[in-house]
Amino acid sequence: RPVLHWFRRDLRLTDNTALHHAAKSSAQVIPVYILSDWKQHHGWTGPNRQQFLCGNLESLAKNLEALGSRLIIRCGRADAELERLIRETQAEAVYFNRDYDPYGRAMEKRVQELCTRLDIECHSHQDSVLHEPDAVLTGSGLPYRVYTPYSKNWLNQPKTAPHGRPRTLGPAAPATVTSLPLPTLEHWQLPPCTAQIPAPGERAARERLKHFISSGILHRYGQERNLPAGQTTSMLSPDLRYGLLSIREIYQRCQEALVDESGKPQPAAAQASIQTYIKELAWREFYMAILWHYPHVFEQEFAPDWVGLPWPGTDSDFQRWATGTTGFPIVDAGMRQLLKTGLMHNRLRMITAMFLTKDLHCDWRLGEAFFMQQLVDGENASNNGGWQWSAGTGADAAPYFRIQNPWLQSARFDPDGLYIKQWVPELKDVPAALLHEPPKPGLPLAKGYPLPMVDHHAERDRCLAIFAKHKEER
Ligand code: FAD
Repeated sequence: RPVLHWFRRDLRLTDNTALHHAAKSSAQVIPVYILSDWKQHHGWTGPNRQQFLCGNLESLAKNLEALGSRLIIRCGRADAELERLIRETQAEAVYFNRDYDPYGRAMEKRVQELCTRLDIECHSHQDSVLHEPDAVLTGSGLPYRVYTPYSKNWLNQPKTAPHGRPRTLGPAAPATVTSLPLPTLEHWQLPPCTAQIPAPGERAARERLKHFISSGILHRYGQERNLPAGQTTSMLSPDLRYGLLSIREIYQRCQEALVDESGKPQPAAAQASIQTYIKELAWREFYMAILWHYPHVFEQEFAPDWVGLPWPGTDSDFQRWATGTTGFPIVDAGMRQLLKTGLMHNRLRMITAMFLTKDLHCDWRLGEAFFMQQLVDGENASNNGGWQWSAGTGADAAPYFRIQNPWLQSARFDPDGLYIKQWVPELKDVPAALLHEPPKPGLPLAKGYPLPMVDHHAERDRCLAIFAKHKEER
């Protein structure tokens, strides 16, 4: 009897743990992807990420065809659709990789219950992380609340090697097992994607990984990763979001990159860069662990002190932020990169998120939702973690009064204004030095470019007062 592999955030064939085990267990694996219908009405869904998903599914379907298999696409609630498929195919087991966010977890529980009810096997596997949330705990068995001790523990644990790629999944499902066509944006009633998003699919993702390592960006990562002009980071977050690459493969490639082609160790700075990069991968798993252990963060502040904090920012302030017309060149450049590409450099995510929450006093949940609508790599745990960190309400050792000054951030990380000029073309002829300080009152930096919408120092004081008052009144 066949087994089902339920594809979720693991849209690849290479080093896919559950798929690997499914292929070993049975002569016929029927691959299935279930489109969720609730997304049609969900405010966090936007064309950029869904277009990337469509491309990834198309590529996955082709790769499966090349193996002689066929991707079955269904739509609905996963447990109900799997039940239908189990009955149609007489499958004797369901395989899938675990997802750690609350929705994913809840659905896994239903699927487990379904399999018990139908008396078939249910195999769930660790795949998208190097270490699961319950595997990285304090000495007393509690979850970490801050990153640094978490990352030390995470780094010290042994890592699993990749599994390779199945050579066959057996024959395709018979024609009686129907599949919906590959989805388009119409499925979610979304407008066309106009952003320049990355190329989808496993092969394109592997090319990105190869480029990141062979071009030396990885080896300079420690020194350059905070500079947003040009490519200074891996750009692999969309690939990790959809599992186009396995985290074990990325980790292994990093280990191999510690020596050069002749086996000679890389210079110390390059080795340190690789370690810095690996520590960033731990951030991703840290936020997954936070969401796993503290699912309330989805609606509420992580830190109890800040629950109910007022956010007096206005809708029109939010709109100026969202359209990249704040008059702060660095903030506008970040927002416009997001609007044009569905991605934003990490330093800019921090600057723009802090600007929205601490200069404009808008609720971090508004920014969180806006990013989720736009980001190709939009991922619940990292996005929520990043927003709460920036708002000062999150899992962080630093207190709320760490407020970055966007002008200083701009001077420090984009000194020549290259990033700003790339994304805010109105400013292309403005001397770089002028981009990092408020212009003289009433004198815009360039024709058609707005004056700064607020005074950073005044808003910083206002923000501190809001936080202090809330703390006092609790
Ligand atoms: P690299 O610098 O090459 O890092 C490698 C990988 O490490 C990334 O691909 C990512 O998986 C992980 N990583 C790096 N930094 C972080 C971090 N701070 N938190 C979690 N993981 C990290 N990342 C997302 O993947 N999805 C999101 O929705 C998301 N939203 C964010 C929102 C805010 C407000 C902030 C401040 C950060 C957010 N991040 C998010 C984290 C980070 O900005 C992106 O992972 C990073 O910019 C992706 O670019 P890269 O792949 O080139 O990163």
